[in-house]
Amino acid sequence: MEMTAQSKTAKQTKKVERIVAPPPRHWVGDGFNVHGFFPHGPLTGERMSPFFLLDYNALTDFPPREEPFGVGPHPHRGFETVTIAYKGKVEHHDSRGGGGIIGEGDVQWMTAGSGLLHKEFHEQESNRKGGPFQMVQLWVNLPAKDKMTEPKYQTITNAEMGRVKLPLGGEVEIIAGEFGGVKGPATTFTPVHLYNLKMKQGETVELAFPSGYTTALLAVEGSALVNSDEKLPVNSLALFERDGEQLRVAALEDGIFLLMSGEPLNEPIAQYGPFLMNTQAEIAQAIDDYRQGKFGYLEG
Ligand code: MN
Repeated sequence: MEMTAQSKTAKQTKKVERIVAPPPRHWVGDGFNVHGFFPHGPLTGERMSPFFLLDYNALTDFPPREEPFGVGPHPHRGFETVTIAYKGKVEHHDSRGGGGIIGEGDVQWMTAGSGLLHKEFHEQESNRKGGPFQMVQLWVNLPAKDKMTEPKYQTITNAEMGRVKLPLGGEVEIIAGEFGGVKGPATTFTPVHLYNLKMKQGETVELAFPSGYTTALLAVEGSALVNSDEKLPVNSLALFERDGEQLRVAALEDGIFLLMSGEPLNEPIAQYGPFLMNTQAEIAQAIDDYRQGKFGYLEG
């Protein structure tokens, strides 16, 4: 009887559904040369919800240039963009007068909500010098009731992140959600966990999320063994089944692994370029509002 009780409470493994090799790169503007992991193939917006898009600029050496590298003014509505700078710096400006620099190791969590225009470039000084550049942009969808929320930024410096030390000198940086009783600084509209697992070779981390959550792991640096039997090469993504709770990451070398997990929204998705809404009527409205200048003005 005791055995039965135990096996009922024991957490089930969240199995690896697939290992996704980095898709061919494409340019976003002239500044971001990204592997677009999703939405792509079987990794649809519905499958990846509450996440919608993952663009990964794998480590790249940019040449020194006077002209700014990046992407000029463009609108967003209905979701959040999370920019994580691993190497290099990103500078942004928006139609509401906001702007700033996302430094190496820092995160910008932008809630586009009802909409704004912004531009994203390599930071001026580092652009002139050139050098290593490595960045993630993750789109987190907003539930219908919050799509038209007031736009806002959360600047999350590396020092502000939650931190849990690992036994061999690595650590878990918590950007959003909670790990080991430590919370991350980002506020989210629905349950989202986002961590950098900064691991030393031979270190193992056990993680648990509610069954039903969408969960994925991106190898930003180094390779890992996931759930003891699935090899995750550098620059690849592990997508986990929604069923099950527990997963294990073992670093095969010193590395950085970006873990994302969140509760799916289970709402219809309508997308047109930089607008992410629930219905085609809302997309038509967004295009109309954009054409009428309701997203504001931003110089190129
Ligand atoms: Mn953008």
